[in-house]
Amino acid sequence: MEADQPSTSSVSLSIDNDLADEDLVLNDESAEIARLQLPEEDQPQDKLEPLEEDERIAKIDFRCSACDMHELVHYFGRQPPFALGIKYLEDTYVMRDPFQPPPPRWQSKPEYYIAMGSKCSSCSKVVCKDGACSFYYTRTVCLPCGKAELKDWPVEAQARLRKQLEDKDK
Ligand SMILES: [Zn+2]
Ligand SMILES: [Zn+2]
Repeated sequence: MEADQPSTSSVSLSIDNDLADEDLVLNDESAEIARLQLPEEDQPQDKLEPLEEDERIAKIDFRCSACDMHELVHYFGRQPPFALGIKYLEDTYVMRDPFQPPPPRWQSKPEYYIAMGSKCSSCSKVVCKDGACSFYYTRTVCLPCGKAELKDWPVEAQARLRKQLEDKDK
């Protein structure tokens, strides 16, 4: 490799600064090494900040009260920050898809995610999305509450829940 590299802006700044010659040489060398070790596409900002790594750890306990499914999820609420443009009508337990790599942080792409469940809008029990555990009609209800409220719903919703209850008992 040629010894004469084009001088970088930092080096010329140092010269203006009246620094001792030794410092100048050292600075130049370390800058050189850093340049050699970093391939173009591997910029330092790829590294996740500690805060962001932390955010990727699922810490919210989700346990379905009906089937006892238990998962740690990333988010409970209506607007998961990692699922861009998604706004749920009710508070929802959301998990980042563990099988997908995170998108690079400079890309404002939505991440893959899984809505795990919600709270029953009547009794507030946590239920998963499984048809044996919850029913969704304008809001999530657990099946016992669904059965109790059924008669107040439009016929079409009643039919859907009845079908779901039949499937469950099969
Ligand atoms: Zn369940
Ligand atoms: Zn309920």
